[in-house]
Parts: sequence; C-alpha cells; structure tokens
Amino acid sequence: MSNPSLLILPGDGIGPEVMAEVRKIIGWFDARRGLKFDVSEDLVGGAAYDVHGTPLTDETMAKAQEADAVLLGAVGGPKYDSLDFSVKPERGLLRLRKEMDLYANLRPAQCFDALADFSSLKKDIVAGLDIMIVRELTSGIYFGEPRGIIKEGNERVGINTQRYTESEIARVARSAFELARKRGNKVCSMEKANVMESGILWRDVVQEVHDAEYPDVELSHMYADAGAMQLVRAPKQFDVIVTDNLFGDLLSDAAAMLTGSLGMLPSASLGAPMANGRPKALYEPVHGSAPDIAGQGKANPCACILSFAMALRYSFDQGEEATRLERAVEMVLADGVRTADLMQAGDTAPASTSDMGDAVIAALDASL
Ligand code: NAD
Repeated sequence: MSNPSLLILPGDGIGPEVMAEVRKIIGWFDARRGLKFDVSEDLVGGAAYDVHGTPLTDETMAKAQEADAVLLGAVGGPKYDSLDFSVKPERGLLRLRKEMDLYANLRPAQCFDALADFSSLKKDIVAGLDIMIVRELTSGIYFGEPRGIIKEGNERVGINTQRYTESEIARVARSAFELARKRGNKVCSMEKANVMESGILWRDVVQEVHDAEYPDVELSHMYADAGAMQLVRAPKQFDVIVTDNLFGDLLSDAAAMLTGSLGMLPSASLGAPMANGRPKALYEPVHGSAPDIAGQGKANPCACILSFAMALRYSFDQGEEATRLERAVEMVLADGVRTADLMQAGDTAPASTSDMGDAVIAALDASL
C-alpha cells in the first residue's frame, strides 16, 4: 500500500520558516515512529503569483484535490496589496477552501498552562481551557448572492446575502456532533434566530440532526451575541461550539485570544470523506504571513506544528502520535522555551524559530 500523501504549501512571509520546522518533525515521525508520508511541496499565494501570475495554479489545485491532506503556511504580504482582487494571495486560499468544499473549519482554543498568564482574562478563567469552535466555511454571507456595490439613485449600496441550505447546515452540524462525541459530548449552536430567518433555519436543522442522529450528545442553542459575552465571561462552560461562517469568523478569533499568542493557534478545515474514507482536509495555522517579522527567524512555529498534529489526528488516524506531539509542545513551554511573541518582562533572550523546532524534537525524543 502506498504511503498517505501530504501536500505542503508554505506560502509567503513566515510561512516557509514555520514550515521548515514542521518538515523536521515529519522527519522525526518517519525516523522514530515509522510514520511514512509521501510529501510534496508547491507554491501558493504571493509565491505562486510571482512565478505563475496566479495565486494558485490549476495543477496545484488538482494536487490538493488528490492529497490525503494539505498543510499550508500563510499567504499575503504588503508586496501584493495593490494587486487586482482576482489575483491577490488570499484568493489562492479561498479557491482551495471552496473547490475542496471544506465546509467545517475546526478552531481549537486550548490554553497551555505555561501560557495562562498571556490571556487577557484572569488565569483561573482560562487555565485548562479546551474548546473547539466549528465554523461553517463555504457558505453564508461571504458567498451568498446577490452581492456587490450598486447604485441606487444618488448613492451606492453595498449588498451581501446570508444564505444557507438545510444540507449545508446539517453537514456542519454532523461534524460538530462527531467531534463532541470524541471530546466532552456537548455542542452549543450559535446563531441569531431572534432576528435572522437563516438563524431560525440553522437552529431548527441543528436540532433535527441532533434528535435523529445524535440524541446522546448534549445540545444547547445560544444567540451569537450572547455567546460572545459568555466566551469572555466563562469560556470553560463550552466544549464544541458550532456556528455559521460570519459568526464563526468573529467568535473563533475572540476565543483564540483567550489563549494568548496567535503563534500558538492551529486550525483544520475538513470536507466530505474521499473514496479512502479520509475527509478532504486543509491544515493551517490561524496566523497570517506576519510580514513584520518575516525572514528574521523570530516566528513561533508552534501553530503550524500543532496544525500538523491535527492532521495526524483527523486525516491519518494517528491520535496517539498527535497527542505525543501536542504534549511535546506543552513540555517545551513548561520548560520555559519562548519565541519572541511569548516573552514577558524579565525573560531572557528569545528562542528562534529553529530553536523552538529543535526543542520540540528534543521533547519528542524524551517521550520515547
Ligand atoms: P498576521 O497574523 O500575519 O500578524 C499579526 C501579528 O501577529 C503580527 O505582529 C505578527 O508578527 C504576529 N504573528 C503572527 N504569527 C506569528 C507567529 N507565528 N509568531 C510570532 N508572531 C506572529 O496578521 P496580519 O498582520 O493582519 O496580516 C499579514 C498578512 O497575512 C496580510 O497580507 C494578511 O492578508 C495575511 N493573512 C493571511 C492569513 C492566512 O494565510 N491564512 C491569515 C491572516 C492574514
């Protein structure tokens, strides 16, 4: 049987720097745990635009469709800000998400004990926090038609449309319930059923899927604005939160900040199962290309490393190895290894991107 395939798209800015550390870790799992992947690498974002005049070529898109998992660094940067919207680096990422039909975006918000002081909230509110936000990613207001800026009389009108079909809601609800069964068995669905028809349908369909297929999972519903308040008031009440594209965008960023640095946050975007049973999947750190620190060896590679851990768990059925990698990161933090973004007053010289990668490898060695 051939090895599972992994397509790596480092992208722009700090993307290639953090991905280099993930390559070391992939090498470690190959050498020390016998986990073999057929790894290939390609261009995305500005890096692809520079070579091909497009942020994602059809060939790379086809490779992504074939791969068992795609791991992406980050795209974008000031160099590309003035490009036409159609060829901006971000369009490459949006095309991947759309054409792979990655409808469930998994955003864990987990607070490592060693970093609890980094949260803007009190330590006891966030210590031990472990929630998963499942955001619908391929529909809703970012894609609905009609959209545009039109002229009405003497003024311009900006239009976007929130639109959800039952099946779009049902499939992301299933993703959330499946995840909950492997975690704390609780789902909270968030919408604005009080003011939006799409919210009423969202609530109804999530409830129907629950009653028919997942009655064992505890389900609650909350208006998204109240959910935002609860997330900062008492975030540990949640296990899995499922919500639409727009609210998920906001709530997952807010939840992310509960845990400290952007440099620590992984994500996964999953689609329907392929013929081999694996879901279509794209893994990427939450952060962007960080042009302010690119090329300086300052980037924290942990978000990208933890994204690979998610790939191990959700694409390659290697839950134990995923946990090994997550524990290694936790251990490194507990030992006080800090990249610049994790430094606090009184800390000595920061670890570089590759120091952090090496420390994770050493912790993996120690785990054997
Ligand atoms: P950003 O996430 O790139 O950076 C925000 C801040 O966080 C910066 O100060 C940066 O130095 C810091 N930071 C981010 N990741 C870090 C890491 N791993 N280690 C240490 N510090 C880190 O967001 P931005 O500055 O708003 O955007 C920069 C570019 O990235 C833009 O072109 C934007 O469009 C793009 N972007 C891409 C993605 C993506 O590829 N998924 C996501 C967000 C932004």
